[in-house]
Amino acid sequence: MRLLTCIALDAAAHARRIGGTIFSTIMANTHQFQTEVRQLLDIVIHAFYSDREVFVRELVSNASDALEKLRLKQLTNATVYEPERELRITITTDEEGKTLTIADAGIGMTRDEVVEYLGTIAHSGTKKFLEMMKESKGGTQDLIGQFGVGFYSVFMAADKVEVTTRSWQPDATAVKWTSDGKEGYTMEDAPADTPRGTAIRIHLKDDATDFARAEHVRHIINKYSNFVGFPIDFNGEHLNTVQAIWMKNKKDVKPEEYEAFYKFTAHSESSPLTYMHFSADAPIVLNSVLFVPEDNPEAMGFGRCEPNVALYCHKVLIDSKPDNLLPEWLRFLTGVVDSEDLPLNISREMLQDNSLLRRISGIITKRFIKHLEGLAKDDAEKYEEFWRRYSRFVKEGIVTSWEHKDTLGKLLRFESTFTEPGKLTSFADYVSRMKENQKDVYVLFGASRAQLEHSPYLDALQARGFEVAFFTDGGDQFVVESLMKVEDKEIKSIDRANLDLPPLEGQPDRPGLDEEQAKALTEWVTETFKDSFSKVTTSDRVSSAPAIALQGENDISPEIKAYLKAMGQPVPETHPEIAFNPHNPIVQKLAALRTENEELATLLADQLINTALLRAGMLDDPAKLADNSQALLEKLLSK
Ligand code: ADP
Ligand code: MG
Repeated sequence: MRLLTCIALDAAAHARRIGGTIFSTIMANTHQFQTEVRQLLDIVIHAFYSDREVFVRELVSNASDALEKLRLKQLTNATVYEPERELRITITTDEEGKTLTIADAGIGMTRDEVVEYLGTIAHSGTKKFLEMMKESKGGTQDLIGQFGVGFYSVFMAADKVEVTTRSWQPDATAVKWTSDGKEGYTMEDAPADTPRGTAIRIHLKDDATDFARAEHVRHIINKYSNFVGFPIDFNGEHLNTVQAIWMKNKKDVKPEEYEAFYKFTAHSESSPLTYMHFSADAPIVLNSVLFVPEDNPEAMGFGRCEPNVALYCHKVLIDSKPDNLLPEWLRFLTGVVDSEDLPLNISREMLQDNSLLRRISGIITKRFIKHLEGLAKDDAEKYEEFWRRYSRFVKEGIVTSWEHKDTLGKLLRFESTFTEPGKLTSFADYVSRMKENQKDVYVLFGASRAQLEHSPYLDALQARGFEVAFFTDGGDQFVVESLMKVEDKEIKSIDRANLDLPPLEGQPDRPGLDEEQAKALTEWVTETFKDSFSKVTTSDRVSSAPAIALQGENDISPEIKAYLKAMGQPVPETHPEIAFNPHNPIVQKLAALRTENEELATLLADQLINTALLRAGMLDDPAKLADNSQALLEKLLSK
């Protein structure tokens, strides 16, 4: 392959040197596809037969993009070639010749652009698609429909494709690119009278001649053409009415129209999970339609998705994927934001730092959160579906956007000691169930509900009839900690030492250590295990176990500790707090044993403490517990 490339390059250089016309048309115009393109073509050609009509959508969408770009050039007073040529798409079928031609009067491409755009993979979405395909090795039939592979999808149906194009730049020459979609392509000069824009002539494969049938193609185009902002000529007949769905009154738009618009703009074959249509006249003129795709685009191993909400100014596309139109955590949305208040000639640099854009972003974000709140209220089932697929983004929003975190907190869903496994609840519901003497909202972090249900910390809360919310996603601790409060109540993690619980009422008096015995015990433990714990106490927080370990006030949590360890970061030393249960018989035994047999008492205390640490997920070295058990047993049995 390398050799062939060298020969092609060499020939090109040679041809340029001698400037020979005949020689250059035979030799100099042969180019190899970039390796990635060949891999992609191989997949495209062999894998997808059911979805192959998507190539029509891709080419119409490229034509529309090219026209949008030209319109913006004209509106910003650039000098374009053939300024009077109408902005339209022309589609022609030729059943006899087995061809389909899709042409536009758009921005066109220069020779260099053709090489870059139609010879390499410039589009990062396509790159990701390719990586995904390579990893999954088949079984990914839907992917091409969901992600669209752009221009190259034409080779699903084509034997040969000819692209004739002339750039908008007045001094550019027209070029013709031809390829069979296998190894490479040829380039040659196109006739001097080639009009501005791009014409793609598709020679159909024998099993794809359907795409040369007028009725079949009309049917496909009708699915999307309503949303192309330019007239479409189909075999000489005007096809679509031009409409920008987001500029309409939402009462006048049918659900099917939103759905079809979504499919067109998101290059998707599925329906959106939910959508929002929002218009405002003040303080900023805004029209927006936003969609949540059916599936989380980051859930399939594609990595971080790119923002996909286009920015328009009164129906003129300014940027199809502006980076910072909406906050990062909303990157899963697709759709359109249109504001008449934006200057048309706004440049990419200006988009980076524009106060109007920031305000637009704030308004849309707020409205979208409101939309989700509404969804949760009106269609709880649908909201749960959203939550199960997109919770990570909402959580990311809480951590990253200070101004929206409180409204986002209301969107959180979780299981709790009051819910059945698998059933979710919200903080609003939690608060409505709070006991009269309950001040705070209680939460607990861990790997799973099953693990949390065995947590030593639950005892004290359950004895008081208080609900505890379970958070089981990695990172939940950060999320809840940035939230701090919900519905005006403080959130408290119940593994903390400083839980301020009301006294237990109506409990029968239980035998236990008296104050003096308790004091003597805790002082002895503190002395024996010098510097290990921030505090040793006896506490009513435990109702059954002999002891519990609590996260010291200044300690980092076990989750964060595990995270630091996994990242290879230095882990600061922690000093948990140990609380003994004065009513537990073993603890009472320990208090007595302390003076009778200090050696045995030390082993016993160590055992109780290590078990408490283990249950709290704070035992750094489980071997300690095993060694101690053995020593304790030996001692007991040798008596
Ligand atoms: P995408 O449209 O997502 O960028 P495509 O594979 O569909 O990816 O197209 C690749 C590039 O080729 C486009 O970004 C554009 O620069 C160029 N291109 C494709 N079709 C046209 C066209 N009809 N007119 C001008 N440029 C085009
Ligand atoms: Mg495209």
